[in-house]
Amino acid sequence: MILLGTGTSVGVPAIGCGCAVCRSANPKNNRTRCSAILGLPGGNLLIDTAPDMRTQLLREDIGLVHAVLYTHEHADHIFGLDDLRLMQFYLDGPVPLYCEEQVEARIRRSYDYAFTSAANLHAGAVPQLVFQRITTEPFELLGARFTPIRLRHGPRFDVLGFRIGNVAYCTDANAIPPDSLELLQGLDCLVLDALRPRGHATHFSLAEAVEIARQLEPRRTYFTHMSHELEHESTNAQLPASMKLAYDGLRIPLV
Ligand SMILES: [Zn+2]
Ligand SMILES: [Zn+2]
Ligand SMILES: [Zn+2]
Repeated sequence: MILLGTGTSVGVPAIGCGCAVCRSANPKNNRTRCSAILGLPGGNLLIDTAPDMRTQLLREDIGLVHAVLYTHEHADHIFGLDDLRLMQFYLDGPVPLYCEEQVEARIRRSYDYAFTSAANLHAGAVPQLVFQRITTEPFELLGARFTPIRLRHGPRFDVLGFRIGNVAYCTDANAIPPDSLELLQGLDCLVLDALRPRGHATHFSLAEAVEIARQLEPRRTYFTHMSHELEHESTNAQLPASMKLAYDGLRIPLV
């Protein structure tokens, strides 16, 4: 798994901000929007299509995406989707999008031009997409088994995290229901939302995320979806030994 982006919805640096983290020369303080890609037996699986998707795939020299799996339908997780247009040529068919019902509904509304009659369009004019429904039931995809993890993302919004073997990817959450905590036992690596030091209505603060990691005791924890309020080196220096801030390009073995 490569963490393609580890930044919050506006990215870091934030437009118009001159703070020390936004002006930092350390590339680990430069965070594009949250996404990850998994090299699986059956191909490359992209988790979310962030607005930075094109530059993320170019940066990591990844030329092919076989399928996309969505955590949820917020703008910072879907609005790179149009750049999948090249994949329909490489795959010789539509790109499969694995998601829950409300994610499909949002993508159909936001990308209505991709789902209307294409009679007067050339083949690459719009993304060719095919939806595959997922629920909280485990499923197989590209030769790997996925366990969806229900997460709360604010009081009225649910998202999915995913467990693949002993690695779990859980972004955009501020609470984990008890049943989901059970599914996150015995991890080698947990990737977990940690927005900033202060609390937030829809994301874990760093202290809240550290507390979750203490409860679950994965061998390693990496925090993601971070704002410019978390400086990479100085924050890492204060974290327990098994926990670190993630950064764009971080590679995590799938075990
Ligand atoms: Zn987000
Ligand atoms: Zn800033
Ligand atoms: Zn979100």
